[in-house]
Amino acid sequence: LTSSLLDELRQIVGAEYVLSDSVDLSVYECDGETLDVARPDYVVLPATTAETAAVVRLANRHKIPFSPRGAGTGLSGGSTTVYGGILISMTRMTRVLLIDPDDHIAVVEVGATNLSISQEANKYGLHFAPDPSSQVASTIGGNLAENAGGPHCLKYGMTTDHVLGITVVLPDGTITKFGGRSRDRLGLDLLGVFVGSEGTLGLATEAVLKLVPKPQAVETMLAYFPTVDSAGEAVSQIVASGVIPAAMEMIDQLTLNAVEDAHHLGLNREAAALLIVELDGPRAGILVHKSIVEECLKRNGVTGVQWARDQNERARIWKARKTAFGALGRIAPHGYILDGVIPRSKLAEAIRRIAEISVKRHLTISNIYHAGDGNLHPCMLYHKDNVKEVESVLVAGREILEVCVDLGGTLSGEHGIGVEKILEMAKVFTPHDLEAMGWVKQAFNPDGLCNPGKVLPTPKTCGESGGRAMMRHMLSAQC
Ligand SMILES: Cc1cc2nc3c(=O)[nH]c(=O)nc-3n(C[C@H](O)[C@H](O)[C@H](O)COP(=O)(O)OP(=O)(O)OC[C@H]3O[C@@H](n4cnc5c(N)ncnc54)[C@H](O)[C@@H]3O)c2cc1C
Repeated sequence: LTSSLLDELRQIVGAEYVLSDSVDLSVYECDGETLDVARPDYVVLPATTAETAAVVRLANRHKIPFSPRGAGTGLSGGSTTVYGGILISMTRMTRVLLIDPDDHIAVVEVGATNLSISQEANKYGLHFAPDPSSQVASTIGGNLAENAGGPHCLKYGMTTDHVLGITVVLPDGTITKFGGRSRDRLGLDLLGVFVGSEGTLGLATEAVLKLVPKPQAVETMLAYFPTVDSAGEAVSQIVASGVIPAAMEMIDQLTLNAVEDAHHLGLNREAAALLIVELDGPRAGILVHKSIVEECLKRNGVTGVQWARDQNERARIWKARKTAFGALGRIAPHGYILDGVIPRSKLAEAIRRIAEISVKRHLTISNIYHAGDGNLHPCMLYHKDNVKEVESVLVAGREILEVCVDLGGTLSGEHGIGVEKILEMAKVFTPHDLEAMGWVKQAFNPDGLCNPGKVLPTPKTCGESGGRAMMRHMLSAQC
């Protein structure tokens, strides 16, 4: 079977685009969520929709699981092949096929990086609004499968608000299209169902994206606060005032100092929290919003405010946020990034309870937030070789998500469920909810071959979500 399958895969995509050597495969054994590791049996890199469909049909014939993968920057193990099988990497399909400056549309292959689309669109004064911090590397296929967000999604919405149509290879190998070039979606909204389905309903190969004009003016500000509470309160008051900033991002003191150690940006190391607020739109409106924002900051004891005077200063401010995760590598070699959501008003309580977990579990936890929409990214720093510490990280991760749910929030703002949070799904959904989602998955993916072991828990539940042993599930089996 193995050699005939390999031959057939090579015939479809060309020999050099089929990987089966263990060293090559090890590159693909996880995504950015490195606690869940499972090596695929083969990696295949198709160049076209037709090749992708042929690989999927072949997998069906051999009854072998297959999973789509973009850049592998996912943070929930979405492309990790927990049942082994064929990993279909979309990273050869990188073309921006069309920018239509009249209709504000881009047509792209799904392996195109998020940033490359804005770079092309920039020539026409347009850009693709969803801007995950991974935008240099992450692909549009991964963005739409995860319904990715980013700092500017506070004002502009998530990926789902910017995808008009997709070409899809369904799990049986059929090629079809959902949506189109217009915003109207007639019939059942299959595009809406597909976006955010984490690779479990098929493989997107092309996408029609909505572009937005670049704003007339942008003002970016960095502010320091003596406590996380006061920064959180300022964020709540800005939103309550009716101002919707383009972005509102926060990092805590630990993260701020790691960034300063790494990049020497001249940040105030004494501050307990650093808040970035960006306003955009027509110039006249921005001036009004600027004074409202400043008033909210003052009312909450801000200790320093710096507005960017030019593009360089704006880039410096954003560097403090966009390099934050990388800078944490100075503290420990491994970081496990969570993605909980809470009501904005509960920020202070969430931070206090995360700090308690950090003490109880003897873990260093940094905090990075999409503060405007209550999306927390606590990052637990650890050494992977220290098994006890890894166990603490997994337990603390679960506890932090429980805090988020307990405070009226949920498990994920943008990173998805993947394999990471599959066992937690029962904390936010009833068995009936999960069953209804299962019917949808079943309709698209009746044999369960497409990206198995993701998003929805199987009846096997605790301790087993896939054929390959995941450390978190072995741990959960002891629960
Ligand atoms: C430093 C860092 C910062 C990040 N910042 C953000 C952020 O600000 N906002 C945010 O939302 N995320 C963020 N992420 C997470 C990650 O970048 C996003 O989830 C991104 O959308 C994943 O894209 P990818 O191409 O890497 O997809 P992958 O990780 O390869 O795959 C992600 C999921 O998409 C599926 N998939 C991939 N391609 C396709 C396709 N063509 N068709 C169907 N399914 C497919 C996979 O099966 C998997 O389930 C960050 C990650 C890192 C490492």
